Amino acid sequence: MRPAGSTAAVLTIDLDAIVANWRLLAGRVKSGQAAAVVKADAYGLGLDAVAAALHGGGCKRFFVATLDEGLALRRLLAAAEIAVLFGPERADAEQFRASRLIPVLNHLGQVEVWSALSRARRDPTAPLAAIIQLDTGMSRLGFPPAEAARLSTEPERLAGIAPCLLMSHLARAEEPDAAMNREQLARFRTLRAELAGVLGACPASLANSSGIFLGTDYHFDLARPGAALYGLNPTPKYSNPMAEVVRLQGKILQVRCVDSPQTVGYGATRVVTRPSRIATVPVGYADGYLRSASNQASGHIEGVRVAVVGRVSMDMITFDVTDVPPEATRPGATVDLIGGPYPVDVLAADANTIGYEILTGLGRCYRRRYLGGGNATDGGA
Ligand SMILES: *Cc1c(COP(=O)(O)O)cnc(C)c1O
Repeated sequence: MRPAGSTAAVLTIDLDAIVANWRLLAGRVKSGQAAAVVKADAYGLGLDAVAAALHGGGCKRFFVATLDEGLALRRLLAAAEIAVLFGPERADAEQFRASRLIPVLNHLGQVEVWSALSRARRDPTAPLAAIIQLDTGMSRLGFPPAEAARLSTEPERLAGIAPCLLMSHLARAEEPDAAMNREQLARFRTLRAELAGVLGACPASLANSSGIFLGTDYHFDLARPGAALYGLNPTPKYSNPMAEVVRLQGKILQVRCVDSPQTVGYGATRVVTRPSRIATVPVGYADGYLRSASNQASGHIEGVRVAVVGRVSMDMITFDVTDVPPEATRPGATVDLIGGPYPVDVLAADANTIGYEILTGLGRCYRRRYLGGGNATDGGA
């Protein structure tokens, strides 16, 4: 973390926009129910501020990935329902229970761990809640069909467990025409029907952000949006229905006037042929501004587009500001790096990645300004 001096870039996070996005998404879901996925430090935007704002805005159910994230969230929100996607190990299961974290059970081993913990307790009348995850096509986490079948033929494995949700995850939800969405939906329905004998009328959840926009067939009882809460476009083929959450603004450190043909940056990947002014902004790949954005991305100064020229270096980027009036490009002048005319999703596309990676990579090196959420705060470094 570098000191927040006068040239420090500022990351502005609009908490009211996050809450508005959650409400919009929940309102689109058939049941009206949407949890908030706040793993990876709320997609890099700060778990504390984001979760507090969402909870204040009415969101009472959260998903995180790890036990540590769950414990951090529990310290913040005593009453919220918190689910942990990675599930328990034998050594940490008691921590789940003691902090009232609901584990997602992804395989028979985790079912055994949770069942054993429950059976070993003095109070056998209080089964422990858990979410069961089915793998319908990600080949990543969750019960593959054959293992799911063993839950229905060997129901004693679930002794002491109170399944409170059956879930699965879509692989291609942002592509509404992909046949795989319908295949995963069909598999999920089939497995759900097969498990009805042991799970009863357990609620179900399939949709992430983009899944909500695939139609009500995908909604079941609960949606689990993450990315769209933070302003990423869940419908990449159409205009973004979400409110903008993130703005990143840097400041010019130096301006170089170039009047003879000359190269810019490492590797001399860019040759400047016309008389030009090149502005250096102290934000680089160490700050999450990806090197793959070299010679591709844009910034904006007072609404005028300025191209990234040359390679992004560790803590600097260079922009061609020739077309911007000199008085707007003095050292200390602001360059809009993300937001407004240049949304996160566009930077991501220019850097050959997805908005998720940009957000979670933004890092802690910026001065963070939180807007809304009941009060405007300056998060410091
Ligand atoms: C990350 C995650 C989500 C949220 O996905 P988005 O695409 O960010 O909306 C939902 N469910 C699971 C299982 C996840 O891992």
